[in-house]
Amino acid sequence: MLIINLLVFLLLSFILHFGLKKKISARLAAINVSYHDALSEKDILTADLAILEGESSRLKHGLEETVGLYEITREISKFLDKDKVFEVFNEKIKRFLFLQDCRFLKADDDLSKYSDWIVFPLEINKRSLGSLAVKGIKEKDLEKFHILVQQFLLGLKRAVLYQHVQEMATLDGLTQVFTRRYWFQRSEEELERSRKFQYSFSCLMIDVDKFKDFNDTYGHLVGDAILAAVARVIKENIRQIDLLGKYGGEEFCVILTETDIQGAQFVAERIRSAAQDAVVQAYDEVLSVTISIGISGFPNDGADLTGLVDKADQALYQAKETGRNRVCVFKS
Ligand code: GH3
Ligand code: MG
Ligand code: MG
Repeated sequence: MLIINLLVFLLLSFILHFGLKKKISARLAAINVSYHDALSEKDILTADLAILEGESSRLKHGLEETVGLYEITREISKFLDKDKVFEVFNEKIKRFLFLQDCRFLKADDDLSKYSDWIVFPLEINKRSLGSLAVKGIKEKDLEKFHILVQQFLLGLKRAVLYQHVQEMATLDGLTQVFTRRYWFQRSEEELERSRKFQYSFSCLMIDVDKFKDFNDTYGHLVGDAILAAVARVIKENIRQIDLLGKYGGEEFCVILTETDIQGAQFVAERIRSAAQDAVVQAYDEVLSVTISIGISGFPNDGADLTGLVDKADQALYQAKETGRNRVCVFKS
C-alpha cells in the first residue's frame, strides 16, 4: 500500500513538474517576445525622436532666418538715402551670413576691377541702379544672399522713388533748377546763416533778352529749349553751393553765397558772356541768345530776401533800359 501511495505521489509530482515547466516555458517565451517587442518599440521611438529633433532644429533655424530676413527688411526700410540703405544692409547681412566683403557699385563704376567677385546687377524697370558685388561667400549661402539682394533692391526702390518725389517738388521740370518756392526756402536759410556769421552774399536776377520774339518766331517748343540751354549756361558758371532758381517764365534768380558785389559782378559778367557765346541747338534751329543781369547785395541793399530780390529786379530793369546784354548793379 505504501508503495502504491508512493508511486501515485511520484506520478502526480512528475505530472505537476512537467505541467509547470511547460507553463513557465510558455510564460518565459511570452515575456521574451514582449521584451523584444519592447526593444524594437524603443528603437522605433528613438529613431522617431531623432527625426523630430532634426525637424525641430530645422524649423528653429528656418524661423531664425525668417526673423533675420524680416529684421533686415525692416531696418533698411527706415532709410531713404541710397547709400544709407546699403550701409545698414551691409552691417546686418554680416550678422546673418559669412562673407569677406560686400560693395554697392554705382551704374558707371568699372566692373573689371571686380572680376573675382560675384556681381548681382540691380535694376528697376530695366534701369540700372548699379550692382552689388560680394566676395568670400560660401557656395551654400549664395541662394540666401540672392534673397537678401532682393530685399536690398526693395529698399533701394523706395529711396529712388522718394528722391524722385523730392526732386519733383524742388526742381523745375524743364530747366532742372530750383522751383521758385524752394529757392525762397533755401535762400531764407542762407540769409539766416549770413546774418549769424556776418557774411555778405549777392542776389542776381537774370532775364532772357527779347525772349518773346523767339517764341513768336519759332514757337514755344524752341523757346523752352532756349530756356533749358540758358539754365545750363548759368549752372556751368556758378559754384555748387550757390542757389539757382526759376523765378518767372524766363527769369532766373541766383544767390551767390559769401560773395560781395565785386565778386558777383565778376560772376555775372562771366555768365552773360558765356550765354552770348553759346550756340543753342533747338530742334532744327541754331540760335544765339543774350541775357541781362541785375545784382543786389546783402546786407547793404536790404535785410530781407524780398527786398533784395526787388533791388536786383530794379537793377535788371536798368540793364534792359540801357541796351540789354549787360550786367547792372543796384544803385540807391
Ligand atoms: P525783354 O526781357 O528783353 O524786355 O523782352 P522779352 O520779350 O523777353 O520780355 P519778357 O521778359 O517780358 O518776356 C516774357 C515772355 O516770355 C512772355 C512769354 O511769351 C515768354 N515765356 C514766359 N515763360 C515761358 C516759358 O516757360 N516757356 C516759353 N517758351 N516762353 C515763356
Ligand atoms: Mg521777363
Ligand atoms: Mg525777357
